[in-house]
Amino acid sequence: MKGQMRRISRNDITYFYFPGWEEKNRVGHGFSSRCGGVSADKFASLNLGYKGGDNPAAILENRRRFLNLWGKKEPDLVYGEQVHGTNIQMVGEKKVSGGVLPATDGLITAERGVVLGAFSADCILAYLWDPYTHTIGLVHAGWRGTLEGIVFLAVTAMQNYFAARPAGMQALLAPSIGPCCYKVGRDVIGLAAASSWRNEAIFYPSARDGHAIFDLRASNRNILIAAGLVPGNIMVSTLCTCCHSHYFYSYRRAGRITGSHMGILFLY
Ligand SMILES: [Zn+2]
Repeated sequence: MKGQMRRISRNDITYFYFPGWEEKNRVGHGFSSRCGGVSADKFASLNLGYKGGDNPAAILENRRRFLNLWGKKEPDLVYGEQVHGTNIQMVGEKKVSGGVLPATDGLITAERGVVLGAFSADCILAYLWDPYTHTIGLVHAGWRGTLEGIVFLAVTAMQNYFAARPAGMQALLAPSIGPCCYKVGRDVIGLAAASSWRNEAIFYPSARDGHAIFDLRASNRNILIAAGLVPGNIMVSTLCTCCHSHYFYSYRRAGRITGSHMGILFLY
């Protein structure tokens, strides 16, 4: 898939989207920047997640502003608790009323009206769309989820529940921490060595003893290809959340206390 994610500002909110999906006009999607909200200090300003300890009233207002760009509201939103696990949940009609699903890092749905949400501040958010069955998935993958193959499990779940066809599926990997900034230690290297995805996981040497550079994007792209996606149908944003502090929160750059971006995906 040709092109990059593009930045746009509407109603003073800045977000990123992929024009190739927008043109088809069948799925709505976006990935927020940190610009255009009401949160202060380390959370400035468009923090959309609760985990950092920001003022809940500010988060609600930020979510209202962001979702309103698509005419959506908080009750339309379904998202996972995100525990760096591999649990994928199918969102059906009974969950359209919205809310958070415990211990869940991936969501899939065939329901129009449901807005799938996921949060990140360096981790990968993978957007999946099967145009053939018109079904979608949204996945949060940090180093652990990546090495446990959560994107593969999401594609498999879409096959099992919806008879989705990986060879026709499209994927977007939103802005995340790049190999420029992602040095990891023995915990990650050790899990990778024991992982079923060790051949897909991409590491580069680091000058620091006992460390390596982990390429989350290339690894998840490889795992999607192993799941049956065609390389030309996988769009990978090369924007690094750690390098670009004006637009992005970064857990690594901030030393843990920071805001979250939200990715949304829904069916028209
Ligand atoms: Zn970087």
